[in-house]
Amino acid sequence: MRIPPIHIEYPDWVESTVDWDRRYTTDEEKMRLAIDLSRENVVRGTGGPFGAAIIEQGTGALVAVGMNSVVRLNNCTLHGEMVAFMMAQSRLRCFTMRSDDGPVYELATSCEPCAMCLGATLWSGVSRVLCGAHRDDARRLNFDEGPVFPESHAYLEARGIEIVHGVLREEANAVLELYRASKGIIYNR
Ligand SMILES: [Zn+2]
Repeated sequence: MRIPPIHIEYPDWVESTVDWDRRYTTDEEKMRLAIDLSRENVVRGTGGPFGAAIIEQGTGALVAVGMNSVVRLNNCTLHGEMVAFMMAQSRLRCFTMRSDDGPVYELATSCEPCAMCLGATLWSGVSRVLCGAHRDDARRLNFDEGPVFPESHAYLEARGIEIVHGVLREEANAVLELYRASKGIIYNR
């Protein structure tokens, strides 16, 4: 039995829509990028309504983007945040983005991370997380966020990860509503 190797790549539209040279310095700029990715993923029909980005703190340099790719690549782990982590670490050639003397990295995600992505956030080495839509917004579409509790966030914060909620929440939620209106697949229920 030979199981095919796993190959993860961006949908084609990333090449033409993401501005890799731009600097994303404010929280709103970082979040708008994540939301733009979530919207593009819906409009282009390449996945669920979730987008994410990894940005270097201070310089605002874009390291990697992510978009929900569960259905496109037949992989339940490929939430937007997971794709962003994997691509960022592939690009940086490291298994953690936390270091004593190197740059500090932030995750911007268009919706609060689910249980899996919150766990991966801890291991990814990012130091700050910006969240757009609330998990309740996702739940209204019947997306299950899994076992995420107030203690889960407190645990990450105790490990030095700052979590900012509700950045451009309305804009982020509008993409969830767009997905609902387009009758997109709810894959993790
Ligand atoms: Zn997730």
